[in-house]
Amino acid sequence: MSAATDSAFQICINPDCRSTFSVDDTLVACPECGSLLDIGYDWDRLPVPSSLSELEARWSNRRNPLDFSGVWRFRQLLPFASDEQIVTIGEGQTILRASDSVSKYIGLNGANALLQYEGLNPSGSFKDNGMTAASTHARMVGAKFAACASTGNTSASLAIYSSAAQLFRVVVFVGSGKIAFGKLSQALDYGAHTLQIQGDFDDALKQVRDVCQREKIYLCNRVNPFRLEGQKTIMFRVLEALAWEVPDWIVVPGGNLGNSSAFGKAFAELKQLGLIDRVPRLAVINAAGANTLSQLYNNQSLRWNEGRTDDELINGYFAEMDAAGHRANTLASAIEINRPVNLKKCLRALDTCDGVVREVPDDAILDAKAQIGAGGFGCEPASAASVAGAKLLREEGVIAPSDRVVCILTGHQLKDPDATVGYHQSSPGQIADKLASRGIQAVQFPNAPQAVENDLDRILDVIRSFNA
Ligand SMILES: *Cc1c(COP(=O)(O)O)cnc(C)c1O
Ligand SMILES: [Zn+2]
Repeated sequence: MSAATDSAFQICINPDCRSTFSVDDTLVACPECGSLLDIGYDWDRLPVPSSLSELEARWSNRRNPLDFSGVWRFRQLLPFASDEQIVTIGEGQTILRASDSVSKYIGLNGANALLQYEGLNPSGSFKDNGMTAASTHARMVGAKFAACASTGNTSASLAIYSSAAQLFRVVVFVGSGKIAFGKLSQALDYGAHTLQIQGDFDDALKQVRDVCQREKIYLCNRVNPFRLEGQKTIMFRVLEALAWEVPDWIVVPGGNLGNSSAFGKAFAELKQLGLIDRVPRLAVINAAGANTLSQLYNNQSLRWNEGRTDDELINGYFAEMDAAGHRANTLASAIEINRPVNLKKCLRALDTCDGVVREVPDDAILDAKAQIGAGGFGCEPASAASVAGAKLLREEGVIAPSDRVVCILTGHQLKDPDATVGYHQSSPGQIADKLASRGIQAVQFPNAPQAVENDLDRILDVIRSFNA
């Protein structure tokens, strides 16, 4: 065993349990108590960098794929694998860019809105940050077959790692009729076995967990603690882009709550290691149609409570939801999730980062998305919940105009072209109908294509009207 894996372990997040297990075990929950697992490190025995800029310097050594990777150049901060075991396809070449127009839309001074564009990853979403880590772990344990349930991006990401690394085959479970076409096309093109389950993401996840347990298939869902280790690096890259200055806010859409959980862990560890002196505040944004976290956190005051969460409250909430037959329902399909698997870890992150939770309706999400696009970024609907949430928090006065606010754009625009075209082209269509069924008649920033006769004069008339 390498020095790295020797000093890393899996540890139960339940403070009354805290059982530890080897990183060579394949676990999706604590075998003692059923709680979620973390990856823990014996930092005293590891070569911790003396400053964060040391890790930034590695990028100049980009012929080494591990230093080129925006995840693994930070590998000293997620040291669970030895270098030879790491599976990388050049993920994490992302940018943080300031946007004047989005700042204005949110109500921030100058260019205080900073957009972290994770759509630039190989499969077009932030999921690659986590999947490179899970693929690495799958290789460590010699897995030959891996699986996930997905609203789309996780399956696209797992599929690309499987086809690029050729170490394991994959089967992905998606809900029927729920997946955006860009994402489905990726799973098919990368050659993943694709099962469309009659039901939604929550149904698909339950099935895949049972299947993996019975068939000893490697499970790549967010219950997999290794994925969150990779996702910590999104925050490392944000800090790197800000010359290691901590921003005031991180705003992220919340679905299964893996990202928010990983961000909280990243900041807690950086603080513990003395690499930063303060943590930013965290805002997690639900879609109004998939608002479990917002309901529990804001209306029922559920808190981390040092790991002693009120499980009766949580279970009661889910029981009521099931009894009422209540299903997640939002156009932001990547966050259309009512049973967030990382709920407790997210509560911990909110505790670490003095966090807030909000929910935003679909029309606010789509209007924000159009503003993001017009500002020179493209994203899928779920991503725009971050900007819509920041705008709401600004209106409430929780975020100040002078705050520096990082919004995470989690997925690429081309993931869900139906949503984009449906928004801009107000004529009846799938999205327009779905919007109408939610009482949204008018979108704020439509940009419909104009039909013109195949005639030069008519075309010139239209062109000249743009300048009028
Ligand atoms: C998965 C996903 C989310 C939700 O992230 P969680 O970590 O599950 O909260 C948001 N946006 C996009 C584009 C995603 O693919
Ligand atoms: Zn336990």
